[in-house]
Amino acid sequence: MVELRTLATYPFLSDAKSYVTKTAPTVEDLLNDPLYERARVIGVERLDNAFHDKDVGNRSLVTKSDYIMELLSYPLARMVAVCIEDTYFKRRYALGEAVHAYRNFINESTAFLLQIAAEFSLDVLYNEDTNILKISFLDYLHYAPTRYKEWKMINREMTKGYIRISHKDLARIIQEALRSRINEELDERRCSKAVYETFSLDINRIKHSVMMHRKKIEAAPVGTLDVKKLPPCMKEILAAIQAGENVPHMGRFALVSFLHSLKLSTNDILNMFSSAPDFEEDKTRYQIEHITGSTSSTAYTPPGCDKMRTYGICPADKIDDLCKRKRHPLSYYKARWREEKKKA
Ligand code: SF4
Repeated sequence: MVELRTLATYPFLSDAKSYVTKTAPTVEDLLNDPLYERARVIGVERLDNAFHDKDVGNRSLVTKSDYIMELLSYPLARMVAVCIEDTYFKRRYALGEAVHAYRNFINESTAFLLQIAAEFSLDVLYNEDTNILKISFLDYLHYAPTRYKEWKMINREMTKGYIRISHKDLARIIQEALRSRINEELDERRCSKAVYETFSLDINRIKHSVMMHRKKIEAAPVGTLDVKKLPPCMKEILAAIQAGENVPHMGRFALVSFLHSLKLSTNDILNMFSSAPDFEEDKTRYQIEHITGSTSSTAYTPPGCDKMRTYGICPADKIDDLCKRKRHPLSYYKARWREEKKKA
């Protein structure tokens, strides 16, 4: 049995779930019994920290009771996150859990990381004699942040379908696998009435903060761009980037080339990306400048709707009437401007 300290540090492990199932109180007790007040407080703290600091945060864990409260705070935080009923918030919380786990992963042994990789069904090979780690290129493509130069396949050594990675790379790949798993799990769940009743004050407070945050982003002047007039596809990509999701290269490419066509400067585009939890200015600037042609010989043009659909980045469930009349995201945006002018 994995020790309690490990379960409290990595509450998403299957051993942690089994421990909670076997030894924990009922959900009703967890929500109402004064004995678990500390777990409830930490659960909300996880959410607040993830939202404001992009990491669910560290707490001092000394006694057995500390470990148990920390462990129980994880399912509680997830239950409350679902009740916020906001995708951006859920994404941000998932990222906060994953980033926190990563910060602990990098100090663990490779053997421990391999066990966690197995929990996520990652196909990883490790040669103890040479200390060489490799991951199947499919898993690599799925989870590695290939938008960054050092993660691009061209800069990696591949042999027989496996890509060589470092201990830190593996930690980063597991971070992404964890984030993606939490996102999926949160999306599958619905808010329980009992959870809502117990946490209604915190839920409403957080909902309000999320709304204010969203307004701030939307109202922020970005060059001459009016974010509200963006077509659904660009809104989705931008929201995903700002929530720190691993947006595929084509999505980033489409957004940057679109913004560049609207004459936004590199700095304006950079600003739009800067609220992403994993924002790194140098790397993002490099990508933008490559797409806009400042550091390459070509300034790429943004893809039209057909291409967007082919790449799976036209959100079919979000398209509106204007989308149906347009064949390019740029013409959508310009039409919105014209509509506004007519009204004025
Ligand atoms: S139809 Fe075109 S403009 Fe509308 S969301 Fe899809 S790609 Fe974007």
